[in-house]
Amino acid sequence: MKAVALFSGGLDSTLAIKLIVDQNIEVLAVNINTGFGSTKSRLEHMQNMCKQVGAELKIVDIESEFLQDVLFDPKHGYGKNFNPCIDCHAKMFAVAKRVMEAEGASFLISGEVLGQRPMSQNKDAMQTVLNESNCDGLLLRPLSAKALAPTIAEIEGWVDREKLEGIVGRSRDRQLELVKEIGLEDFETPGGGCLLTDENFAKKMFDFIKYDKFEVKDIPVMKFGRHLRLPDGAKLVVGRNKDENLHLQEIDNDKYYHIKTIALPGPHSLLGKNATTADKELAARIILTYCKTQENKTYTLSFDEEELTAVPFDSRDEIKPYTVM
Ligand code: SF4
Repeated sequence: MKAVALFSGGLDSTLAIKLIVDQNIEVLAVNINTGFGSTKSRLEHMQNMCKQVGAELKIVDIESEFLQDVLFDPKHGYGKNFNPCIDCHAKMFAVAKRVMEAEGASFLISGEVLGQRPMSQNKDAMQTVLNESNCDGLLLRPLSAKALAPTIAEIEGWVDREKLEGIVGRSRDRQLELVKEIGLEDFETPGGGCLLTDENFAKKMFDFIKYDKFEVKDIPVMKFGRHLRLPDGAKLVVGRNKDENLHLQEIDNDKYYHIKTIALPGPHSLLGKNATTADKELAARIILTYCKTQENKTYTLSFDEEELTAVPFDSRDEIKPYTVM
């Protein structure tokens, strides 16, 4: 008997896997990458969790499918920010079901806990997700199983329902008891969660789609730097520190110029190739304003192969009207 688990790397999905592995069922932990996860890699953490509970890890990238089917026209709308959680969950279950069929597994599990997150984990939202992903009956939620209707795995006797949990609500007491019982270590998830739930990230997304068609190659551009929108419509991204500069340097996206200051330490920046001459000149002035420069001195910047000279603004206040975030 084999099950496929939707695995985030978090405590709940790790415990859910453990409850099933303990019933002598092989579990394949599937982590679905929408492209909008935190900028910190969680791979090592996920590998560690899977190792401790005895599951194999598989990462499934769905960036392009997620953009096409979920992100910009979610049937159930957005949460507080740019997060289409109900549609996203339904997509994840549909993908997990695909993996289940391909792997010859018999059912799905997830770490969802009834009533833990008011919007996406109440009974109605959970049922909507199951109906839309055609997973009704197939999905077992081991942490809340006793508070939910029996699923196929319980009805068929593949899983002993009595050994599952009936956790409801936001308290983590029972989960922490389970951590102790199984001796799970280093279970705190590193880094932030999904960027789509972040207010500032949402501002950048709403700004982006006003001006351009969002593509998979635009995802990394959104993750780093200070984002500005120039008067003629070009997007400017300016690295805020060494780490962001390194990430921006590595971006391979033909929509953007890579801009560097010449003979002056400065941030790495990206500017939309649709920039007018006025937007290019303004971008150069803005970038110089983030450098240690002398008043009224002219500096040179490279825009890919091209060079441009400009004078910095006197104050960063002059940049504010163009700042998205
Ligand atoms: S938080 Fe992000 S990854 Fe999670 S369901 Fe919502 S949109 Fe999807």
